[in-house]
Amino acid sequence: MMIKTLSLCNVCYRKIEAEIIFTGGMVVMNKTCDEHGPFSAIVERDINHVSNFYRMGTQGNNSTIIIHAHNQCNMKCPWCYYPMGCEKIHKARYYDNVLRMYKGNFNLLLSGGEPTIKPDFFEFVDELQALGWPTGTITNMIKLGDDEFFNKTQNQSFIKNGLLKFAMSMQHPKNYSQEILEQKVKAIEKIERSGTKAMCVMFSIQSLDELDYIRDFYHHTRHTYTMIRIRTMFRNWANKDGGNHIYLSDLHRAFIDKFSDLMPVQNSEVERSNMYCLYMKMSDGMHVSLSSAPTVENIDYHLVSRPVYMLAMDGRCYPVPLAQIINEGISKGYKDGFRLTGGL
Ligand SMILES: [Zn+2]
Repeated sequence: MMIKTLSLCNVCYRKIEAEIIFTGGMVVMNKTCDEHGPFSAIVERDINHVSNFYRMGTQGNNSTIIIHAHNQCNMKCPWCYYPMGCEKIHKARYYDNVLRMYKGNFNLLLSGGEPTIKPDFFEFVDELQALGWPTGTITNMIKLGDDEFFNKTQNQSFIKNGLLKFAMSMQHPKNYSQEILEQKVKAIEKIERSGTKAMCVMFSIQSLDELDYIRDFYHHTRHTYTMIRIRTMFRNWANKDGGNHIYLSDLHRAFIDKFSDLMPVQNSEVERSNMYCLYMKMSDGMHVSLSSAPTVENIDYHLVSRPVYMLAMDGRCYPVPLAQIINEGISKGYKDGFRLTGGL
């Protein structure tokens, strides 16, 4: 089996032709840049996993666009993929204008940087909603732990049908101080007391043994969110420990093992959070998304799935991981393979 697609050059981020081949039990991408020569990368170690994945697809079900609402953060995580401070941040009207072709069919999900430290965060959300954009926010939860901030989220701009429109980013506690962990715990306690549920809790993992913590966390907090997302991280995470990349098939197997008492099964409902993902449902009703972010080495430009869009720094929307890789290229000075002189 061979799939013809497009990818990006590992060096200059130019869009180039690529082939995905199934060989030696693995799924491999081969591509050649006219200027930088041939590249080969593993897409997946488990051939059965990928053929199943390609068969299912998730075409045509996306309804979310992520925008980077702020280009600064109140945490300094060494693995963060976002080129902090690089991107121009706009007023609500800019997003309304540049995304007008999606209006009516799409929600906006504010990301960053950390959107909640945007000085005009509440006004920005209100303005987007007044312009006709249903809006949610991805947050590191630090501000949510503050009384004043949390109280300001207790209204119809942020709560719909008992759902608090925040996607909460947790990590394994080894990644931050006790002070930060306590602030995140406070945020969860506030949600619990408010009787609402956050949209989801998200973990980006560097190693599969972090699932032990996630299992324990889940046991204590599952009533405070409607979904859990676990994803393996981008190259800059994978390289931290010598490039030990976790493939989605590895995460899938480890998750089923760790949550075996809740009998997770693959759900035929679509999942839209990433290019390589599986959607699971457990016996207690919780939905779980497992995903693996591709890198510039193995990104498939035309994958059959159609995950959440992201507005990239070139003012265009792409599927999430592709947008992040394009931003990565732009932050290195490349746009469509050409050296930028003086920015966009
Ligand atoms: Zn190249």
